[in-house]
Amino acid sequence: MMMDLHVHSAHSVDTDVEIKDILKTAKARNLDGLAISDHNEIAGSLEAFELAKEMEGFVVIRATEVSSSEGHIIAYGVDKKIPRDMTPQDTVEAIRRVGGTPVVAHPYRFWSGVGERVVLNTRFSAIEGLNARSPKSTNEKAIALAEKLDLGVTGGSDAHKIEDIGTGVTVFKSNIETEEQALEEIVKGRSKVYGKSRPAGSPKYVAKTVSEWFGRGMKRI
Ligand SMILES: [Zn+2]
Ligand SMILES: [Zn+2]
Repeated sequence: MMMDLHVHSAHSVDTDVEIKDILKTAKARNLDGLAISDHNEIAGSLEAFELAKEMEGFVVIRATEVSSSEGHIIAYGVDKKIPRDMTPQDTVEAIRRVGGTPVVAHPYRFWSGVGERVVLNTRFSAIEGLNARSPKSTNEKAIALAEKLDLGVTGGSDAHKIEDIGTGVTVFKSNIETEEQALEEIVKGRSKVYGKSRPAGSPKYVAKTVSEWFGRGMKRI
């Protein structure tokens, strides 16, 4: 089974894709499930979770991409927002307190990744090993770090546009019918990742990131 576990919707500040269009596209691309992981929001994810109950054989995992003080952490399996700007350790604890699974997103990404030192010093449940918007070299480093720490991996497109949905996926060998089963497989290290990466060091990407940052009044997402 294949699920894109990192998708943004119109509930993220930098995206305008509607939930129903995301679900329709994911189905059309033969995905078996997905997670909407909006920046510091949960409403879109909960909407998708409800809509998926009517979709035969399609699993939605609730999620939110939390901005910790050091970078992005995805809370899977939660039904409420997690406060932003806390330390990674406090963020992880807040996620676990509400029954969620904390996964470090794109750990090696410039600016919004928490970096290796934080991953080594924080008890995450898994590492995002494939993010289709990250360069191949950093995805490979993330997978190697997960292996070293004996942690499971997740994969996702980090899609902010409809056409990018499914460009990165988490692959499960067993049949997954619920959010709980998917998260258990990941935490036990039984998932794999597959997908494309961003071309290395694209200058266009750096320019875009910086101009968006200025556009937000120099605040990180
Ligand atoms: Zn992120
Ligand atoms: Zn993201």
